[in-house]
Amino acid sequence: MSATAGRAPRLKIHEIFHSIQGESTHAGRPCVFVRLTGCQMRCVWCDTEYAFYAGDWMEVEAIVARVRELGGPLVEVTGGEPLLQPSVQPLMTALCDAGFEVLLETGGGLDIGGVDPRVGRIVDVKCPASGEATSNRWQNLALLRPGDELKFVLADEPDYLWAKGVLAEHRLAERGLPIHFAPVVGARGLDPAALAGWILRDRLPVRLNLQLHKIVWGSDARGV
Ligand code: SF4
Repeated sequence: MSATAGRAPRLKIHEIFHSIQGESTHAGRPCVFVRLTGCQMRCVWCDTEYAFYAGDWMEVEAIVARVRELGGPLVEVTGGEPLLQPSVQPLMTALCDAGFEVLLETGGGLDIGGVDPRVGRIVDVKCPASGEATSNRWQNLALLRPGDELKFVLADEPDYLWAKGVLAEHRLAERGLPIHFAPVVGARGLDPAALAGWILRDRLPVRLNLQLHKIVWGSDARGV
């Protein structure tokens, strides 16, 4: 039975918390994060594996009320993979209706069509070292609109060269949307200085994206 059959839409929520937005063009802004449980991907460098499981079922109305308690105006719906739960659509619409500025962070493997046009979608393109490059839903690129942003998380130079090729093949720079290149963080991560050097060397029209929340609170911190 679907989570919405015969009752108000509800979602499995891993956590709702107030923090500083760490990524995208909104980095540095106070933001309420609504983290949904579950993901169909298994990126080898995933930093939110804890969100694959657990969580509590909450109705849309209760989620909006909790977001309102915590603050605003910026809210990000994230995961895991938030688009896995169909009720995420009425949730995002309810948050927009309540006057919040709403962002959606998605792994890029599921259809981003059907999302309320008031929502800014931050869409990942999975690179080869993630182990999930075959999961990219390439049709999503044609659905991007003003307010959306693209993010590539890079683990090494082959990932960088692959992402550069994707930009050229799909003429993404011509779309006028922010394109973020983010280095994998951690012991097996990519040196941000190396990535910065490649971007400058190639004069690539992308933004170096460092995860501000990890700089502030450390790479293992949760709920921040
Ligand atoms: S899509 Fe996101 S949440 Fe899912 S495995 Fe990859 S990094 Fe983790």
